[in-house]
Amino acid sequence: MPIDLRSDTVTKPDAAMRQAMADAEVGDDQYGEDPTVIALQDEAAALLGKEAGLFLPSGTMANQVALRVLTRHGDDVVVGWESHIVFHETGASAAISGVQFTEVGRGPFGADELRAAIKPRGHVIYPPTTLVVVENTHNRSGGRLFTRAMSEEIGAAARAAGVASYLDGARIFNAAVALGETEAALSAPFDLVGISLSKGLGAPVGSVLAGSREHIDTARRYRRMLGGAMRQSGVIAAAGLVALRNNRGRLGEDHANAKLIATRLAGAKGVVLDPADVVTNLVVARLADGVSAYDVTEACRREGVLLFPFSQSILRLATHLEVDEAACRRAADIIAQAIEANA
Ligand SMILES: *Cc1c(COP(=O)(O)O)cnc(C)c1O
Repeated sequence: MPIDLRSDTVTKPDAAMRQAMADAEVGDDQYGEDPTVIALQDEAAALLGKEAGLFLPSGTMANQVALRVLTRHGDDVVVGWESHIVFHETGASAAISGVQFTEVGRGPFGADELRAAIKPRGHVIYPPTTLVVVENTHNRSGGRLFTRAMSEEIGAAARAAGVASYLDGARIFNAAVALGETEAALSAPFDLVGISLSKGLGAPVGSVLAGSREHIDTARRYRRMLGGAMRQSGVIAAAGLVALRNNRGRLGEDHANAKLIATRLAGAKGVVLDPADVVTNLVVARLADGVSAYDVTEACRREGVLLFPFSQSILRLATHLEVDEAACRRAADIIAQAIEANA
């Protein structure tokens, strides 16, 4: 079995999830009759401190539905550098919602950067800035954090400017653990929040969008429009409920394992990485000039360690519940050796 650090999405449902899936009470969710889906939506919304929730097949769809709810075609959206909604959704934001993006920061950004990026309203040449998107944790900067204070300041700046706000909280559970905050506190400043059940929490499928009842009613229409309305989806929501109840508390182990790998890699020749920047379950390592992330990925694959090259010179690793401390130590040695051999 390879040690798979490509993503925290690679985990398979455990015995408790499979049992819950087999036992799930179901109904036709498009008639509002699937009790397991309703339970998941309610439980997730309560955890996030929002009025209502909506179960969706993926985090990408949650992001796209949120965009559709909170913007109109031609609007300008302020978003963090290389966010998932810009970088990893195969152009959906332009194709489906017809928005343009203004990227700010280099990872987590502050309210000042938001204020500076908002276009003046009512001006003849500017597109209206109608939404800010915060990705917490921020993937491409290496799982870095928007603190509660940063989130509250961004929410307040957005409200003051009449701009809506969306939290892409695919990894909000990691953020909550790392910051010692509740998910609700980190979500409170935002109109809508999307979470992933299939990342660190280990469910096989699914995301939830949460917000006011009015926003969620609108979101339900766009979910249908994008083909994401399902039927007896309680069979997958059941695994999501197990994930939400059982797997939040252990995420600190993944963070400790990521730190351990980062510390080992930082000591290798050919790596530019400060272990202090690794605060959740993602490690983004920049390689020195001339070291190819693709060659290192291939060398590691031959040694039984799977990685995700973000680009020619950047590697990403994700820790998760299927890789324990011993596996992470072994992987870190193999990766460090592969980088040094290619340096
Ligand atoms: C994975 C991810 C998503 C999308 O989730 P999928 O279920 O893979 O579509 C959205 N945002 C962020 C930050 C992610 O890491």
